Amino acid sequence: LFKPASRRPPGGVRMDSSAAPSSSSSSSTSGYHYRRRQKDKIVVIMGATGCGKSKLSIDLGTRFQSEIINSDKMQIYKGLDITTNKIPFQDRLGVPHHLLGVFDPEDGELGPSEFRLTAGLAISDIVSRQKLPLVVGGSNSFIHALVVDRFNPELDVFSGASVSTRLRYECCFIWVDVSLPLLCDYLCKRVDEMLDSGMFEELSEYRRWKDPMSQPGLLKAIGVPEFDRYFKKYPPGTGEGEWDEGRRGAYEEAAREIKENTCQLAKRQIGKIKRLKRAGWDLQRVDATEAFREAMKVRTASSDVKKKKRKKKRWMEVWERDVMTPSMGIVNRFLEE
Ligand code: ATP
Repeated sequence: LFKPASRRPPGGVRMDSSAAPSSSSSSSTSGYHYRRRQKDKIVVIMGATGCGKSKLSIDLGTRFQSEIINSDKMQIYKGLDITTNKIPFQDRLGVPHHLLGVFDPEDGELGPSEFRLTAGLAISDIVSRQKLPLVVGGSNSFIHALVVDRFNPELDVFSGASVSTRLRYECCFIWVDVSLPLLCDYLCKRVDEMLDSGMFEELSEYRRWKDPMSQPGLLKAIGVPEFDRYFKKYPPGTGEGEWDEGRRGAYEEAAREIKENTCQLAKRQIGKIKRLKRAGWDLQRVDATEAFREAMKVRTASSDVKKKKRKKKRWMEVWERDVMTPSMGIVNRFLEE
C-alpha cells in the first residue's frame, strides 16, 4: 500500500494555493498576478482523548513512510508521561515522533502561535525528507492554528470567531469518533488503570520536587489540579504507608474529579471537531465505536487466558475492519489525488 517515495513523494504532489484562481476568476481581473504557491500534503488524525488516535497513527505510520507530529498541548512538555498519557517508546514501533515531551514546562505555556511555528518547521523538515507528516493529538486549537492559511491569535474560533477553510497545507483529516457514553465508560476505566500503573506515584514525585506554580506548562494537565487538595493535606513523602479513611477519601475524591474532567474534556473536544466540520473542514469520520465495545470486553474478561486471547483477537479484527482499513483507504486516495 505504501507508495515508494521515488514514485510519489507524499509532499511532492502539489497544487495551487487558494490564492491561485483560474484566469476566469474575478480576482484575476484586478490585475494582481498570483504567484503559484505549492502546498505540502499532511494527514491530521483528530478525535477526543482516548479514542485511539495514537494506535491509528502507529498503524498508519508503519504502513506509509511517515513521521508523527504530536498536537496534544500537554504531551508537548517533558515530564508527567503517565498522567498525560504519552505513547510509550516501545509502542511507537520505530515511527519517529516530533514535539512529544520536548518543551520544558518551566518555560511557560506554549501557545498556538508557537505551535504553528514549530510544528510548521517539523512538517517542512519531514516533507524535505520525502516523508508524509502525520499530525496527531487532541488539541483542536493547535491543529487549527497549524493548518489555517492565516492565523490570528487574537481570534478564538471556538468561542464565536469564524473558522477559516483556507488552509496552508493540503490536508487529509481523519476523525476517529466513538459514541460518547461508551468513551466515557472507557475513560473512567482508563483513569483507574493509569492510577494503578503509576500515575499517583508520578504526581506525588512531581509534587515533591516541583512547585506546580513554577511549571506553567503542566499546571492544567488533568491530574495536577485534581490532586492539589490531596497533596496539601497529605504532602508527598509523608505517611504513605498509612491509608486511613481520610487519606483514602481524599484520594478517591481526586480520582473521581479526574474521571469527571476527562469526560468533560472528551465532550468539549468532540464539540470542537463538530464545529470545524460544520465550518466546512473536510473531516472524514471513521467510527471506532464497535471496536471500542470489543476492547471493553477484553478489559472486563475473566482471567481465563484463552478467553481473553479470543476477545483480543476479535477486538483487533473489528479495529482493522472499522478503523484501520478505512483510514488506509482514505490516506491512499489522498496520496493518489
Ligand atoms: P482549549 O481551547 O480549551 O485550550 P484546546 O483544544 O486548545 O482547548 P485541549 O487539548 O482540549 O486544548 O486541552 C484543554 C485542556 O484539557 C488542557 O488545558 C488540560 O487541562 C486538558 N488536557 C488536554 N490534554 C491533556 C493530556 N494529555 N493530559 C492531561 N490533561 C490534558
